[in-house]
Amino acid sequence: MKEQRNAHDPEKNHGAALVWFRRDLRTHDHAALYHALKHAASVHCVFVFDTEILDRLADREDRRVEFILASLEELARGLEKMGGGLLVRIGRARELIPALASELGVSAVYANHDYEPLARQRDADVQAALARSGCEFLAFKDQAIFDKDEILTQAGRPFTVFTPYKNAWRVKLAPFFIKAYPVGKYRAAFSRNRSGLPTLAELGFRSTNLKQMKLPTGMSGALHLLDEFLGRIDDYRERRNYPGIRGVSYLSVHLRFGTISIRELVRAAVARGGEGAQTWLSELVWRDFYFSILYHFPHVAGHAFKPAFDNLQFSNSTAHFEAWCEGRTGYPLVDAAMRQLNQSGYMHNRLRMVAASFLVKDLHVDWRWGEDYFADKLNDFDLAANNGGWQWSASTGCDAQPWFRIFNPVTQSRTFDAQGRFIRLYVPELARVDAQFIHEPWTMPLDRQRAAGVEIGRDYPRPIVDHAAARLKTLEIYGKTGKS
Ligand code: FAD
Repeated sequence: MKEQRNAHDPEKNHGAALVWFRRDLRTHDHAALYHALKHAASVHCVFVFDTEILDRLADREDRRVEFILASLEELARGLEKMGGGLLVRIGRARELIPALASELGVSAVYANHDYEPLARQRDADVQAALARSGCEFLAFKDQAIFDKDEILTQAGRPFTVFTPYKNAWRVKLAPFFIKAYPVGKYRAAFSRNRSGLPTLAELGFRSTNLKQMKLPTGMSGALHLLDEFLGRIDDYRERRNYPGIRGVSYLSVHLRFGTISIRELVRAAVARGGEGAQTWLSELVWRDFYFSILYHFPHVAGHAFKPAFDNLQFSNSTAHFEAWCEGRTGYPLVDAAMRQLNQSGYMHNRLRMVAASFLVKDLHVDWRWGEDYFADKLNDFDLAANNGGWQWSASTGCDAQPWFRIFNPVTQSRTFDAQGRFIRLYVPELARVDAQFIHEPWTMPLDRQRAAGVEIGRDYPRPIVDHAAARLKTLEIYGKTGKS
């Protein structure tokens, strides 16, 4: 389709355009939507349930599909209120987008950058297919504050250590980079073209416990969580490490699906200032950092960042792996963490580190098995952050935990869940166990077990490995590489 120019408006260099929503399910502060409305005379919007992604999902009950569907309802309503509409398609985006572009006669498709290797390949294929019919593919930075080559070392290379990356990020952060895109300014360009949403069943999925969990979805859900978090952000630094208290923002799933803008969050943190907001801002910088690592070092998807650690001799016991997945390792904090993940799709950051370390350095299972399990289960699963977190925990990554530093699951439990409040929530077998024993229930005398209504070894497992022995084996496995 040839590019049509709008003779009346010098800013408009496209006749019709299509905005392809992916992980940016909102109507405000949206780079691609803003640019399309600004530059095209008529703007269509589409979301594709990409069967290449859906078919890879391990489970037909997947909270993320339900989260997307609920968030799309709000997106569609939001677009309609602004005078537009949302088209929804099911199939291979790689083929559907070029086909839809030619059906609608658009001269450009607008989208936001995605940094994952498969998504980059998909976008390259879409771009090539569109180019064959004379249609442009225009992509914008939206989900990160800085991306690609915006933050480089003085030698012009990507950073591989977080602190200098963060320092460079902070120096570069000028108001311009966190300004909202005023989408509403050009809303007159919206096309009213719209279609209904499919049902979960039509997508081939069954409902989950998402509604019972009361996880707020969509743009309004994200704003609600942000408002609530801003009321306690000043305490973030002190409270963020304790899974039994409400210390963190729980915004990760919204950042994953773009129901909130990263610029809005950074603006809020900068405006607030103070130690809590500064610490939280650092976490948002980790997010950009891992996007950058994945973008510049795509081999991390599937391989250790440091090649010396790519072939560690793990024992990979499937029995141990299954016990870990199901939360029955006999280490209460690890089990509570895994059960939280299985029951809700969320896991607190401290627990992600503890559970990941336990799988790799106590059970000697390849970190990639754990990474895949988290990818299946996490509502906020994001390849860059998940891979970064796993490689950090397994000491195979850039700027990772040194390999000889091995979390003690009991010490972690005593430090971060001293009273066993979190453990009791997810391991009800131990609900009546005293704080004194809850971190190591196998040390509890029989009469105390009876008093707490639990028999260790029958109602709750004995530890499947001995931490001290496992630790020595880890040192041996990693020591063989001879690398630090
Ligand atoms: P908050 O503490 O409120 O932090 C705010 C935001 O900062 C988060 O929503 C997230 O976007 C970002 N953030 C915080 N910590 C990190 C981090 N270490 N790396 C990158 N971004 C961060 N985060 C994901 O979003 N998706 C994942 O798939 C994921 N997998 C992880 C796997 C492992 C093994 C580990 C150790 C960490 C992983 N994280 C992942 C990072 C972190 O655990 C979650 O972002 C955080 O727990 C989400 O909860 P929150 O939104 O309440 O976080």
